[in-house]
Amino acid sequence: MPSMKALQISAKDLGWLNASGFCERCFWIKRHNKKLPYQTPFAGIFSSIDSYTKSIVEEHFEREGKLPEWLDKAGKAKRLVTVTQSGFVAPKGRSILTGVPDQLFERQDGSYGIIDYKTARYTGTQDSLMPVYEVQLNGYAYIAESLGYSPVNSLYLVYFEPPVREQFREFARKHTTEGGFEMPFAPVLHRVKRDREMISRLIGMAERIFSSEAIPKGLDGCEDCRRLEKLIRLVTGSEGR
Ligand code: SF4
Repeated sequence: MPSMKALQISAKDLGWLNASGFCERCFWIKRHNKKLPYQTPFAGIFSSIDSYTKSIVEEHFEREGKLPEWLDKAGKAKRLVTVTQSGFVAPKGRSILTGVPDQLFERQDGSYGIIDYKTARYTGTQDSLMPVYEVQLNGYAYIAESLGYSPVNSLYLVYFEPPVREQFREFARKHTTEGGFEMPFAPVLHRVKRDREMISRLIGMAERIFSSEAIPKGLDGCEDCRRLEKLIRLVTGSEGR
């Protein structure tokens, strides 16, 4: 199935090309069939928490004229930028990269910083999603610069860690209210390296896979593909009953 369409891809989805165990075949299938069967719905609670965090930072900035203390390492912000435009045509190829960072801010020296929030426990380089996030944030920087917010020279992930089980009883005593309960999250800041070459390289790779006439080869020994083949044999009757 040759594709003459432009590739439109989010910065997060582009990140999967950087993940260990990335499968070209899976990427090709998902790009050509947006609605796949047996997909687990995404838990919307996490995006609600991220939006709430964004509101906390914006409200704090309006009130205090600065970022909250737990973002001190990100430097001093002159202003928070609201990005409403979410896509642009990548300079190489015909692709459109989309995405809006949780927080874009301008510093006193005119440079910009980007922050993205994650509701998860921080495990540093052991986080298998870190290579995905690195692309996601660099993708946001690429988009921001194309919209004129340039240069973006610092990128941060802020993990909000929920309490550990040993803290539950203590926190339950302190944070149960008449209306319900509160759950404190502890922020951990992680700086992501700005890589200006990464996005062009991965967009080129995504375009090559997307426009491939032949379905790319899958991963050797992939259990999911084996199950899929079994399912096809079952529904087509080729396996016998
Ligand atoms: S090999 Fe695995 S990852 Fe690749 S297309 Fe098949 S199921 Fe997906």
